Amino acid sequence: MKKAVGEVIVAGGGLAGVEAALTLARHGVPVTIYEMRPAKTTPAHTTDLLAELVCSNSLKGTDPLTAHGILKREMEALGSVVLSAASRCRIPAGKALAVDRTAFAEAVTETVSRHPNITIRREELTSIDPDRLTIVATGPLTSDAMAGCIASLTGTPRLHFYDAISPVVDAQSIDMEHAFFASRWDAPSMDYLNCPLDETTYRAFVSELLKADRAKAHLFEDARYFEACLPVEVLAGRGADALRFGPMRPVGLLDPRTGRRPFAVVQLRRENLAGDAYTMVGFQTRLTYPEQKRVISLIPALRHAEFFRFGSIHRNTYVDSPQVLNRDLSLKAAGNVYLAGQITGVEGYVESSATGIVAGLSVLARIKDAAFSPPGPETAIGALIAYITSPTQAPFQPSNINFGIMAALDAPRKRRAELLSSRALSSFERWMENTMRALGERA
Ligand SMILES: Cc1cc2nc3c(=O)[nH]c(=O)nc-3n(C[C@H](O)[C@H](O)[C@H](O)COP(=O)(O)OP(=O)(O)OC[C@H]3O[C@@H](n4cnc5c(N)ncnc54)[C@H](O)[C@@H]3O)c2cc1C
Repeated sequence: MKKAVGEVIVAGGGLAGVEAALTLARHGVPVTIYEMRPAKTTPAHTTDLLAELVCSNSLKGTDPLTAHGILKREMEALGSVVLSAASRCRIPAGKALAVDRTAFAEAVTETVSRHPNITIRREELTSIDPDRLTIVATGPLTSDAMAGCIASLTGTPRLHFYDAISPVVDAQSIDMEHAFFASRWDAPSMDYLNCPLDETTYRAFVSELLKADRAKAHLFEDARYFEACLPVEVLAGRGADALRFGPMRPVGLLDPRTGRRPFAVVQLRRENLAGDAYTMVGFQTRLTYPEQKRVISLIPALRHAEFFRFGSIHRNTYVDSPQVLNRDLSLKAAGNVYLAGQITGVEGYVESSATGIVAGLSVLARIKDAAFSPPGPETAIGALIAYITSPTQAPFQPSNINFGIMAALDAPRKRRAELLSSRALSSFERWMENTMRALGERA
Protein backbone atom coordinates (compact mmCIF):
# COMPACT_ATOMS: atom_id res chain seq x y z
CA MET A 1 0.00 0.00 0.00
CA LYS A 2 1.39 3.40 -1.01
CA LYS A 3 1.52 6.10 1.65
CA ALA A 4 -1.31 8.48 0.85
CA VAL A 5 -0.64 12.22 0.91
CA GLY A 6 -2.57 15.45 0.49
CA GLU A 7 -6.15 16.19 1.32
CA VAL A 8 -8.64 13.62 2.49
CA ILE A 9 -11.66 12.82 0.33
CA VAL A 10 -14.97 12.31 2.10
CA ALA A 11 -17.69 10.78 -0.07
CA GLY A 12 -21.13 11.80 1.22
CA GLY A 13 -22.14 14.87 3.21
CA GLY A 14 -24.58 13.03 5.47
CA LEU A 15 -24.34 12.51 9.20
CA ALA A 16 -21.19 10.38 9.16
CA GLY A 17 -19.49 12.40 6.41
CA VAL A 18 -19.78 15.74 8.22
CA GLU A 19 -18.49 14.27 11.48
CA ALA A 20 -15.50 12.68 9.72
CA ALA A 21 -14.73 15.87 7.78
CA LEU A 22 -14.90 18.16 10.81
CA THR A 23 -12.85 15.81 13.00
CA LEU A 24 -10.06 16.08 10.43
CA ALA A 25 -10.51 19.74 9.53
CA ARG A 26 -10.36 20.85 13.17
CA HIS A 27 -6.96 19.17 13.39
CA GLY A 28 -5.68 21.12 10.39
CA VAL A 29 -6.22 18.46 7.71
CA PRO A 30 -7.65 19.70 4.38
CA VAL A 31 -10.79 17.80 3.37
CA THR A 32 -12.97 17.73 0.26
CA ILE A 33 -16.52 16.49 0.74
CA TYR A 34 -18.30 15.13 -2.31
CA GLU A 35 -22.06 15.42 -1.89
CA MET A 36 -24.13 14.47 -4.91
CA ARG A 37 -27.29 16.34 -3.90
CA PRO A 38 -28.98 18.39 -5.29
CA ALA A 39 -27.71 17.43 -8.79
CA LYS A 40 -28.49 13.82 -8.04
CA THR A 41 -30.69 12.96 -5.12
CA THR A 42 -31.78 9.83 -3.26
CA PRO A 43 -35.30 8.43 -2.93
CA ALA A 44 -35.52 9.68 0.68
CA HIS A 45 -33.71 13.05 0.79
CA THR A 46 -35.71 16.16 -0.13
CA THR A 47 -33.26 19.07 0.36
CA ASP A 48 -29.73 20.02 -0.65
CA LEU A 49 -28.66 20.39 2.99
CA LEU A 50 -25.86 18.36 4.54
CA ALA A 51 -26.84 15.99 7.37
CA GLU A 52 -30.49 15.83 6.35
CA LEU A 53 -32.58 13.60 8.62
CA VAL A 54 -34.56 11.50 6.15
CA CYS A 55 -37.29 10.22 8.44
CA SER A 56 -37.92 10.76 12.14
CA ASN A 57 -36.67 14.00 13.70
CA SER A 58 -35.66 12.21 16.88
CA LEU A 59 -32.08 11.42 17.79
CA LYS A 60 -33.40 9.24 20.62
CA GLY A 61 -32.80 9.59 24.36
CA THR A 62 -30.12 11.40 26.31
CA ASP A 63 -30.45 9.67 29.68
CA PRO A 64 -26.92 8.47 30.56
CA LEU A 65 -28.48 5.36 32.09
CA THR A 66 -29.43 4.19 28.56
CA ALA A 67 -27.16 2.96 25.78
CA HIS A 68 -28.23 5.90 23.58
CA GLY A 69 -27.43 8.34 26.36
CA ILE A 70 -23.99 6.81 26.91
CA LEU A 71 -23.26 7.04 23.19
CA LYS A 72 -24.18 10.73 23.17
CA ARG A 73 -22.02 11.44 26.20
CA GLU A 74 -19.01 9.93 24.43
CA MET A 75 -19.70 11.76 21.18
CA GLU A 76 -20.06 15.08 22.98
CA ALA A 77 -16.65 14.52 24.55
CA LEU A 78 -15.28 14.08 21.03
CA GLY A 79 -16.84 17.33 19.81
CA SER A 80 -19.70 15.90 17.70
CA VAL A 81 -21.06 18.53 15.30
CA VAL A 82 -24.33 16.58 15.00
CA LEU A 83 -24.98 16.71 18.75
CA SER A 84 -23.92 20.31 19.11
CA ALA A 85 -26.30 21.37 16.29
CA ALA A 86 -29.03 19.15 17.75
CA SER A 87 -28.78 20.80 21.16
CA ARG A 88 -29.15 24.22 19.50
CA CYS A 89 -32.18 23.11 17.43
CA ARG A 90 -33.85 20.97 20.09
CA ILE A 91 -37.62 20.89 20.36
CA PRO A 92 -39.59 19.63 23.38
CA ALA A 93 -40.05 15.84 23.20
CA GLY A 94 -39.80 14.51 26.74
CA LYS A 95 -36.54 12.65 27.26
CA ALA A 96 -35.85 12.32 23.53
CA LEU A 97 -33.49 14.63 21.69
CA ALA A 98 -35.84 15.76 18.91
CA VAL A 99 -34.87 18.60 16.61
CA ASP A 100 -36.37 21.02 14.13
CA ARG A 101 -35.07 19.09 11.16
CA THR A 102 -34.56 22.04 8.81
CA ALA A 103 -32.90 24.22 11.42
CA PHE A 104 -30.71 21.26 12.40
CA ALA A 105 -29.50 20.49 8.85
CA GLU A 106 -28.99 24.22 8.19
CA ALA A 107 -26.90 24.57 11.35
CA VAL A 108 -24.67 21.63 10.37
CA THR A 109 -24.40 22.84 6.77
CA GLU A 110 -23.32 26.27 7.96
CA THR A 111 -20.69 24.94 10.39
CA VAL A 112 -19.19 22.67 7.73
CA SER A 113 -19.34 25.21 4.89
CA ARG A 114 -17.67 27.89 7.01
CA HIS A 115 -14.70 25.74 7.94
CA PRO A 116 -11.59 26.97 6.11
CA ASN A 117 -10.14 23.46 5.78
CA ILE A 118 -13.24 22.03 4.11
CA THR A 119 -14.19 22.26 0.43
CA ILE A 120 -17.61 20.98 -0.62
CA ARG A 121 -18.05 19.68 -4.15
CA ARG A 122 -21.64 19.12 -5.19
CA GLU A 123 -21.05 16.09 -7.36
CA GLU A 124 -21.38 12.35 -7.22
CA LEU A 125 -18.15 10.50 -6.53
CA THR A 126 -18.22 7.63 -8.98
CA SER A 127 -14.79 6.11 -8.43
CA ILE A 128 -12.30 5.61 -5.61
CA ASP A 129 -8.56 6.12 -6.01
CA PRO A 130 -7.08 3.49 -3.64
CA ASP A 131 -3.88 5.56 -3.32
CA ARG A 132 -5.72 8.50 -1.74
CA LEU A 133 -7.02 8.69 1.79
CA THR A 134 -10.77 8.43 1.35
CA ILE A 135 -13.65 8.04 3.76
CA VAL A 136 -16.75 6.61 2.11
CA ALA A 137 -19.86 7.71 4.00
CA THR A 138 -22.49 7.47 1.32
CA GLY A 139 -25.15 5.96 3.54
CA PRO A 140 -28.03 3.52 3.17
CA LEU A 141 -28.95 5.02 -0.20
CA THR A 142 -25.46 5.01 -1.70
CA SER A 143 -25.50 5.75 -5.44
CA ASP A 144 -25.27 2.73 -7.71
CA ALA A 145 -21.87 3.78 -9.07
CA MET A 146 -20.37 4.01 -5.58
CA ALA A 147 -22.01 0.75 -4.50
CA GLY A 148 -20.32 -0.84 -7.53
CA CYS A 149 -16.91 0.60 -6.52
CA ILE A 150 -17.19 -0.73 -2.98
CA ALA A 151 -18.40 -4.09 -4.20
CA SER A 152 -15.41 -4.43 -6.48
CA LEU A 153 -12.90 -3.15 -3.88
CA THR A 154 -14.19 -5.61 -1.29
CA GLY A 155 -14.66 -8.47 -3.73
CA THR A 156 -18.32 -8.74 -2.71
CA PRO A 157 -20.54 -9.61 -5.67
CA ARG A 158 -23.28 -7.31 -4.43
CA LEU A 159 -24.04 -5.20 -1.40
CA HIS A 160 -27.26 -5.77 0.49
CA PHE A 161 -30.16 -3.67 -0.57
CA TYR A 162 -32.86 -4.62 1.88
CA ASP A 163 -32.44 -4.71 5.52
CA ALA A 164 -34.62 -7.09 7.45
CA ILE A 165 -34.35 -6.61 11.14
CA SER A 166 -36.01 -8.71 13.81
CA PRO A 167 -36.66 -7.43 17.31
CA VAL A 168 -34.05 -8.08 20.01
CA VAL A 169 -35.36 -8.92 23.47
CA ASP A 170 -33.74 -8.38 26.87
CA ALA A 171 -33.11 -11.90 28.21
CA GLN A 172 -33.99 -10.85 31.74
CA SER A 173 -37.51 -9.91 30.65
CA ILE A 174 -38.35 -13.38 29.20
CA ASP A 175 -40.78 -15.44 31.27
CA MET A 176 -38.81 -18.67 31.64
CA GLU A 177 -41.87 -20.50 33.01
CA HIS A 178 -43.11 -20.47 29.41
CA ALA A 179 -39.85 -21.01 27.51
CA PHE A 180 -37.35 -23.84 27.05
CA PHE A 181 -33.86 -24.20 25.63
CA ALA A 182 -33.46 -26.63 22.70
CA SER A 183 -32.23 -26.76 19.13
CA ARG A 184 -34.38 -28.49 16.53
CA TRP A 185 -33.83 -32.28 16.40
CA ASP A 186 -31.09 -31.88 18.94
CA ALA A 187 -30.22 -32.63 22.53
CA PRO A 188 -30.78 -29.69 24.90
CA SER A 189 -28.77 -26.73 23.74
CA MET A 190 -28.43 -23.22 25.06
CA ASP A 191 -28.32 -21.68 21.59
CA TYR A 192 -32.06 -21.37 21.06
CA LEU A 193 -34.70 -20.39 23.54
CA ASN A 194 -38.14 -21.57 22.42
CA CYS A 195 -41.39 -19.83 23.24
CA PRO A 196 -44.28 -22.26 22.62
CA LEU A 197 -47.86 -21.27 21.77
CA ASP A 198 -50.95 -23.51 21.99
CA GLU A 199 -53.53 -23.40 19.20
CA THR A 200 -55.81 -20.80 20.81
CA THR A 201 -52.92 -18.47 21.59
CA TYR A 202 -51.45 -18.91 18.10
CA ARG A 203 -54.78 -18.06 16.41
CA ALA A 204 -55.23 -14.98 18.62
CA PHE A 205 -51.63 -13.90 17.88
CA VAL A 206 -52.09 -14.21 14.09
CA SER A 207 -55.39 -12.34 14.21
CA GLU A 208 -53.86 -9.39 16.13
CA LEU A 209 -50.78 -9.41 13.92
CA LEU A 210 -52.96 -8.94 10.85
CA LYS A 211 -54.92 -6.10 12.43
CA ALA A 212 -51.90 -4.25 13.82
CA ASP A 213 -50.74 -0.86 12.49
CA ARG A 214 -47.77 -0.91 10.14
CA ALA A 215 -45.15 1.79 9.71
CA LYS A 216 -45.73 3.75 6.49
CA ALA A 217 -43.77 2.46 3.52
CA HIS A 218 -41.58 4.96 1.72
CA LEU A 219 -42.66 5.26 -1.87
CA PHE A 220 -39.45 3.85 -3.25
CA GLU A 221 -39.76 0.68 -1.26
CA ASP A 222 -42.66 -0.52 -3.42
CA ALA A 223 -43.32 -3.36 -0.94
CA ARG A 224 -41.18 -5.91 -2.77
CA TYR A 225 -39.27 -8.04 -0.31
CA PHE A 226 -36.82 -10.84 -0.62
CA GLU A 227 -38.85 -14.01 -0.21
CA ALA A 228 -36.34 -15.15 2.41
CA CYS A 229 -37.04 -12.19 4.71
CA LEU A 230 -40.72 -11.44 4.44
CA PRO A 231 -42.14 -9.44 7.33
CA VAL A 232 -44.10 -11.75 9.63
CA GLU A 233 -47.30 -9.77 9.10
CA VAL A 234 -47.00 -10.20 5.30
CA LEU A 235 -46.40 -13.91 5.72
CA ALA A 236 -49.35 -14.23 8.12
CA GLY A 237 -51.59 -12.72 5.44
CA ARG A 238 -50.86 -15.71 3.18
CA GLY A 239 -52.88 -18.12 5.29
CA ALA A 240 -53.85 -19.00 8.85
CA ASP A 241 -51.05 -21.56 9.16
CA ALA A 242 -48.40 -19.82 7.08
CA LEU A 243 -46.38 -18.79 10.14
CA ARG A 244 -46.67 -22.29 11.63
CA PHE A 245 -44.99 -23.64 8.51
CA GLY A 246 -42.51 -20.77 8.42
CA PRO A 247 -40.64 -19.01 11.23
CA MET A 248 -42.99 -20.39 13.92
CA ARG A 249 -42.71 -24.05 12.89
CA PRO A 250 -42.49 -26.41 15.85
CA VAL A 251 -40.94 -29.42 14.05
CA GLY A 252 -38.09 -31.12 15.87
CA LEU A 253 -38.95 -29.50 19.20
CA LEU A 254 -40.48 -31.10 22.30
CA ASP A 255 -41.79 -28.97 25.12
CA PRO A 256 -40.29 -30.53 28.29
CA ARG A 257 -43.33 -29.44 30.31
CA THR A 258 -45.76 -31.49 28.20
CA GLY A 259 -43.43 -33.95 26.45
CA ARG A 260 -45.19 -32.99 23.21
CA ARG A 261 -44.47 -30.90 20.16
CA PRO A 262 -46.00 -27.42 20.65
CA PHE A 263 -48.59 -26.11 18.19
CA ALA A 264 -46.28 -23.25 17.21
CA VAL A 265 -42.99 -21.82 18.49
CA VAL A 266 -41.16 -18.54 18.39
CA GLN A 267 -37.43 -19.22 18.50
CA LEU A 268 -35.04 -16.79 20.11
CA ARG A 269 -31.36 -16.90 19.22
CA ARG A 270 -28.60 -15.54 21.42
CA GLU A 271 -27.49 -12.18 20.18
CA ASN A 272 -24.21 -12.14 22.08
CA LEU A 273 -21.86 -14.38 24.01
CA ALA A 274 -23.18 -13.27 27.36
CA GLY A 275 -26.65 -14.47 26.39
CA ASP A 276 -28.33 -11.37 27.81
CA ALA A 277 -30.00 -10.41 24.51
CA TYR A 278 -32.00 -12.60 22.15
CA THR A 279 -33.07 -12.05 18.52
CA MET A 280 -36.54 -13.26 17.49
CA VAL A 281 -35.58 -15.60 14.66
CA GLY A 282 -37.26 -14.78 11.34
CA PHE A 283 -39.41 -12.12 12.96
CA GLN A 284 -38.58 -9.16 10.76
CA THR A 285 -41.53 -6.81 10.92
CA ARG A 286 -42.62 -3.34 9.97
CA LEU A 287 -45.36 -2.97 12.58
CA THR A 288 -45.14 0.32 14.46
CA TYR A 289 -43.09 -0.01 17.66
CA PRO A 290 -46.08 0.19 20.06
CA GLU A 291 -47.86 -2.46 18.00
CA GLN A 292 -44.81 -4.74 18.07
CA LYS A 293 -44.82 -4.51 21.85
CA ARG A 294 -48.58 -5.16 22.04
CA VAL A 295 -48.72 -8.09 19.63
CA ILE A 296 -45.52 -9.81 20.75
CA SER A 297 -46.74 -9.65 24.35
CA LEU A 298 -49.45 -12.18 23.34
CA ILE A 299 -46.69 -14.83 23.23
CA PRO A 300 -46.74 -16.23 26.79
CA ALA A 301 -42.95 -16.22 27.28
CA LEU A 302 -42.76 -12.66 25.97
CA ARG A 303 -45.69 -11.12 27.79
CA HIS A 304 -43.38 -8.80 29.76
CA ALA A 305 -40.73 -8.51 27.04
CA GLU A 306 -38.49 -5.47 27.03
CA PHE A 307 -36.86 -4.69 23.71
CA PHE A 308 -33.27 -3.72 23.07
CA ARG A 309 -34.27 -3.12 19.45
CA PHE A 310 -37.54 -3.24 17.53
CA GLY A 311 -37.89 -4.85 14.12
CA SER A 312 -37.85 -2.91 10.82
CA ILE A 313 -37.34 -3.28 7.11
CA HIS A 314 -36.05 -0.65 4.75
CA ARG A 315 -33.72 -0.29 1.86
CA ASN A 316 -30.15 -0.31 3.00
CA THR A 317 -26.66 -0.60 1.64
CA TYR A 318 -24.06 -2.08 3.91
CA VAL A 319 -20.98 -4.21 3.63
CA ASP A 320 -20.29 -7.45 5.45
CA SER A 321 -18.14 -5.47 7.86
CA PRO A 322 -16.73 -8.34 9.95
CA GLN A 323 -15.27 -9.72 6.71
CA VAL A 324 -14.10 -6.55 5.00
CA LEU A 325 -13.28 -3.92 7.67
CA ASN A 326 -10.36 -3.49 10.05
CA ARG A 327 -11.03 -2.17 13.56
CA ASP A 328 -9.90 1.30 12.47
CA LEU A 329 -12.64 1.18 9.77
CA SER A 330 -10.18 0.88 6.88
CA LEU A 331 -10.89 -1.73 4.23
CA LYS A 332 -8.83 -4.89 4.53
CA ALA A 333 -8.49 -4.87 0.74
CA ALA A 334 -7.60 -1.15 0.35
CA GLY A 335 -5.94 0.34 3.41
CA ASN A 336 -6.30 3.98 2.37
CA VAL A 337 -10.06 3.64 2.06
CA TYR A 338 -12.18 3.93 5.19
CA LEU A 339 -15.90 3.44 5.61
CA ALA A 340 -18.19 5.36 7.97
CA GLY A 341 -21.90 5.61 8.69
CA GLN A 342 -24.70 3.25 7.95
CA ILE A 343 -22.73 1.53 5.19
CA THR A 344 -20.60 -0.09 7.92
CA GLY A 345 -23.66 -1.87 9.33
CA VAL A 346 -24.48 0.45 12.20
CA GLU A 347 -28.09 1.53 12.26
CA GLY A 348 -29.42 5.01 13.04
CA TYR A 349 -28.58 8.70 12.88
CA VAL A 350 -26.47 8.89 16.02
CA GLU A 351 -24.70 5.58 15.54
CA SER A 352 -23.78 6.59 11.98
CA SER A 353 -22.47 9.93 13.21
CA ALA A 354 -20.35 8.18 15.84
CA THR A 355 -18.58 6.03 13.26
CA GLY A 356 -17.88 9.21 11.26
CA ILE A 357 -15.91 10.55 14.23
CA VAL A 358 -14.04 7.25 14.61
CA ALA A 359 -13.15 7.17 10.89
CA GLY A 360 -11.94 10.80 11.16
CA LEU A 361 -9.72 9.94 14.14
CA SER A 362 -8.38 6.83 12.40
CA VAL A 363 -7.36 8.80 9.34
CA LEU A 364 -5.87 11.54 11.53
CA ALA A 365 -3.75 8.90 13.27
CA ARG A 366 -2.62 7.59 9.86
CA ILE A 367 -1.57 11.07 8.79
CA LYS A 368 0.33 11.60 12.04
CA ASP A 369 1.87 8.12 11.98
CA ALA A 370 0.32 7.48 15.38
CA ALA A 371 -1.17 4.24 16.67
CA PHE A 372 -4.95 4.17 16.89
CA SER A 373 -7.44 1.75 18.38
CA PRO A 374 -11.09 2.46 19.02
CA PRO A 375 -12.36 2.46 22.61
CA GLY A 376 -13.18 -0.87 24.29
CA PRO A 377 -16.51 -2.70 24.02
CA GLU A 378 -17.58 -1.55 27.47
CA THR A 379 -18.04 1.93 25.95
CA ALA A 380 -20.91 2.65 23.54
CA ILE A 381 -18.70 3.72 20.63
CA GLY A 382 -16.38 0.77 21.21
CA ALA A 383 -19.35 -1.63 21.35
CA LEU A 384 -20.53 -0.44 17.96
CA ILE A 385 -17.07 -0.84 16.44
CA ALA A 386 -16.63 -4.28 18.02
CA TYR A 387 -20.08 -5.31 16.77
CA ILE A 388 -19.30 -4.44 13.17
CA THR A 389 -15.74 -5.72 13.08
CA SER A 390 -15.78 -8.90 15.17
CA PRO A 391 -16.11 -12.18 13.28
CA THR A 392 -19.55 -13.72 13.65
CA GLN A 393 -20.96 -17.10 12.69
CA ALA A 394 -24.47 -15.84 11.96
CA PRO A 395 -25.06 -13.73 8.83
CA PHE A 396 -24.09 -10.15 9.66
CA GLN A 397 -27.07 -7.90 10.48
CA PRO A 398 -26.91 -4.18 11.17
CA SER A 399 -27.46 -2.98 14.73
CA ASN A 400 -28.15 0.19 16.63
CA ILE A 401 -26.56 0.84 19.99
CA ASN A 402 -28.12 -1.14 22.83
CA PHE A 403 -26.95 -2.72 26.07
CA GLY A 404 -27.05 -6.12 24.35
CA ILE A 405 -23.97 -5.29 22.25
CA MET A 406 -21.97 -3.64 25.04
CA ALA A 407 -19.53 -5.89 26.93
CA ALA A 408 -21.55 -8.00 29.36
CA LEU A 409 -21.65 -7.11 33.03
CA ASP A 410 -22.71 -9.50 35.75
CA ALA A 411 -24.97 -7.28 37.80
CA PRO A 412 -28.48 -7.42 39.23
CA ARG A 413 -31.05 -6.07 36.75
CA LYS A 414 -31.99 -3.13 38.95
CA ARG A 415 -28.43 -1.78 39.03
CA ARG A 416 -27.32 -2.87 35.58
CA ALA A 417 -27.88 0.42 33.74
CA GLU A 418 -26.14 2.44 36.42
CA LEU A 419 -23.12 0.11 36.52
CA LEU A 420 -22.87 -0.16 32.73
CA SER A 421 -22.97 3.61 32.49
CA SER A 422 -20.28 4.24 35.10
CA ARG A 423 -18.04 1.51 33.66
CA ALA A 424 -18.44 3.01 30.19
CA LEU A 425 -17.55 6.45 31.49
CA SER A 426 -14.31 5.44 33.19
CA SER A 427 -13.21 3.28 30.27
CA PHE A 428 -13.98 6.03 27.79
CA GLU A 429 -12.11 8.66 29.80
CA ARG A 430 -9.01 6.46 29.94
CA TRP A 431 -9.21 5.80 26.19
CA MET A 432 -9.69 9.49 25.44
CA GLU A 433 -6.64 10.48 27.46
CA ASN A 434 -4.41 7.84 25.82
CA THR A 435 -5.69 8.57 22.33
CA MET A 436 -5.27 12.32 22.56
CA ARG A 437 -1.78 11.83 23.99
CA ALA A 438 -0.91 9.53 21.05
CA LEU A 439 -2.26 12.09 18.61
CA GLY A 440 -0.42 14.85 20.42
CA GLU A 441 -3.69 16.77 20.75
CA ARG A 442 -6.10 18.10 23.29
CA ALA A 443 -9.65 16.70 22.91
C1 LIG B 1 -36.01 5.39 4.44
C2 LIG B 1 -35.11 5.51 5.62
C3 LIG B 1 -35.62 5.90 6.85
C4 LIG B 1 -34.80 6.00 7.96
N1 LIG B 1 -35.31 6.41 9.16
C5 LIG B 1 -34.51 6.57 10.23
C6 LIG B 1 -35.01 7.07 11.48
O1 LIG B 1 -36.18 7.37 11.60
N2 LIG B 1 -34.14 7.19 12.51
C7 LIG B 1 -32.83 6.87 12.40
O2 LIG B 1 -32.09 7.00 13.38
N3 LIG B 1 -32.32 6.41 11.24
C8 LIG B 1 -33.13 6.26 10.15
N4 LIG B 1 -32.63 5.79 8.97
C9 LIG B 1 -31.23 5.49 8.90
C10 LIG B 1 -30.49 6.83 8.69
O3 LIG B 1 -30.84 7.36 7.45
C11 LIG B 1 -29.06 6.61 8.74
O4 LIG B 1 -28.73 5.99 9.94
C12 LIG B 1 -28.20 7.86 8.64
O5 LIG B 1 -28.71 8.86 7.88
C13 LIG B 1 -26.95 7.34 8.05
O6 LIG B 1 -26.01 8.34 8.00
P1 LIG B 1 -24.94 8.25 6.83
O7 LIG B 1 -24.09 9.44 6.98
O8 LIG B 1 -24.35 6.93 6.80
O9 LIG B 1 -25.83 8.39 5.50
P2 LIG B 1 -26.69 9.64 5.00
O10 LIG B 1 -27.06 10.52 6.13
O11 LIG B 1 -27.77 9.08 4.16
O12 LIG B 1 -25.65 10.43 4.09
C14 LIG B 1 -25.13 9.88 2.92
C15 LIG B 1 -24.94 11.02 1.93
O13 LIG B 1 -24.18 10.53 0.84
C16 LIG B 1 -24.70 11.09 -0.36
N5 LIG B 1 -24.25 10.21 -1.45
C17 LIG B 1 -24.66 8.94 -1.75
N6 LIG B 1 -23.91 8.44 -2.73
C18 LIG B 1 -23.00 9.41 -3.09
C19 LIG B 1 -21.95 9.49 -4.04
N7 LIG B 1 -21.62 8.46 -4.84
N8 LIG B 1 -21.24 10.64 -4.14
C20 LIG B 1 -21.53 11.69 -3.35
N9 LIG B 1 -22.52 11.68 -2.43
C21 LIG B 1 -23.24 10.54 -2.28
C22 LIG B 1 -26.19 11.16 -0.11
O14 LIG B 1 -26.79 12.13 -0.92
C23 LIG B 1 -26.24 11.54 1.37
O15 LIG B 1 -26.29 12.92 1.57
C24 LIG B 1 -33.43 5.68 7.84
C25 LIG B 1 -32.91 5.30 6.61
C26 LIG B 1 -33.74 5.20 5.50
C27 LIG B 1 -33.16 4.80 4.18
